[in-house]
Amino acid sequence: MEITVGDLYDFKSCPLRWKYTHLDKVVKKITTNDGIRESLQSVLNFYYFHLQQGEQLTLADLKEKFSSIWHGHLDIYDIYLGNRNDKRRKELEAIGMLNTFYRQQKYAPDHVLASNLDFRVPFPNDFYIRGNIPVLRDTPRGVELAVFKTGKHKYDEFWQQTDMGLTLMSMAYQSMYKQEIDSIAVHLLRDGSTIYVDRKRKDYQRLMKTVNMVRESIDKGWFYPRETFACDKCPAKKLCMEWR
Ligand code: SF4
Repeated sequence: MEITVGDLYDFKSCPLRWKYTHLDKVVKKITTNDGIRESLQSVLNFYYFHLQQGEQLTLADLKEKFSSIWHGHLDIYDIYLGNRNDKRRKELEAIGMLNTFYRQQKYAPDHVLASNLDFRVPFPNDFYIRGNIPVLRDTPRGVELAVFKTGKHKYDEFWQQTDMGLTLMSMAYQSMYKQEIDSIAVHLLRDGSTIYVDRKRKDYQRLMKTVNMVRESIDKGWFYPRETFACDKCPAKKLCMEWR
């Protein structure tokens, strides 16, 4: 079986909802997502793709790319917004983050080794997790994995250490290049700060435990409801009430 990093988070947040949305597909995926993360990541991928070819795009290029996604009709970025004012407000937030990103890159662009790198990490019993490494770059700290966060929640030490996405990226790097990543940088685009984190044996063990638990729950059909404030927006609420 194969799942994505997103599935892993979805399962942990509510196994029953994951069953209805991913396995049974009887309700649409829940999302409170506004599309900012995906749209900005796509613009950054565009930037790094060109940078790797030796061309540094301008801020205007990035804004234009963002605008084509934000106002486009492709409907592939899960942009869910209430009304036009909301959409404009979010757009300004995103442009602010693009400005922050560009300020950091303008005079010292990254030395890109790879970008937008898909991975598939194998676990015991034919279980795989798919994901993506945004950027690998050459730095004075060695080969560095860089990720960009656009969310509002505080990325404190707890979230840094329990970030399963980072642990999986680090494992994927090890399995692809047969060595440990030298450095991991997390850029918080809302305030322009950068946090350096590492991954140690205990972090991999922690992830293994979670993955084993999720795999076993799926194998044994343990899809229990996990009531939280997220139930308010859950599309499976009705089915959940009938769950026995
Ligand atoms: S209503 Fe809450 S507990 Fe029930 S499936 Fe949805 S998220 Fe899970």
